[in-house]
Amino acid sequence: MILQVNEIFYSIQGESSHAGRPCVFVRLTGCPLRCTYCDTEYAFHDGRSMSLDEIVVAVAAHPARLVEVTGGEPLAQPGSIALMQRLLDEGYEVLLETSGAYDVSSVPAAVRRIIDLKTPDSGEMQRNDWDNLAHLRPHDEIKFVIQSRGDYEWARDVLRQHRLDARVRVLFSPAWGSEVRTQLAEWMLEDALPARFQLQLHKLIWPGVERGV
Ligand code: SF4
Repeated sequence: MILQVNEIFYSIQGESSHAGRPCVFVRLTGCPLRCTYCDTEYAFHDGRSMSLDEIVVAVAAHPARLVEVTGGEPLAQPGSIALMQRLLDEGYEVLLETSGAYDVSSVPAAVRRIIDLKTPDSGEMQRNDWDNLAHLRPHDEIKFVIQSRGDYEWARDVLRQHRLDARVRVLFSPAWGSEVRTQLAEWMLEDALPARFQLQLHKLIWPGVERGV
């Protein structure tokens, strides 16, 4: 089993309810989406071929027992499923960060899946695989990246319509650099929204660093 790997690095988990935890990241190459706010365009094509054994060795070079498989869009490589199972077999706690455009039902049950629902201003809303909502487990998370009031209202209505807060942790995150950061917090307060406001913690810790954090 060979995967295209963009980078493997050790950092602080920055964008989920696991934010703040030391974590090893396996960033896989490739993504068919083109979100307007994408901050990992370097992962669209750059990468090297690695076997599962090579990836496990590279992960084990770091001290954390938490691993996040991310991208790009990791599920665009079918081998990502075997990678997550292998990491579980090695005793790691495994997170998956995915765009929500791919079927997540074949992801091993023990993996904690952080699934985007693409908002209107992302430009990729039509990619959302709504069937994924039927496969949610309590340890999964749904994340909305917000760039405008329109995005907020759309996400709020999806949350309410699907009663997401009763099923998983729900994250509302302003797109990095967007003007709505403070407004988003105020909108959530006005609605007493049953969701978590979050900032990309790693970008606050290491401002301006674009890779490996
Ligand atoms: S899904 Fe993620 S990696 Fe792909 S374009 Fe959107 S933000 Fe970038």
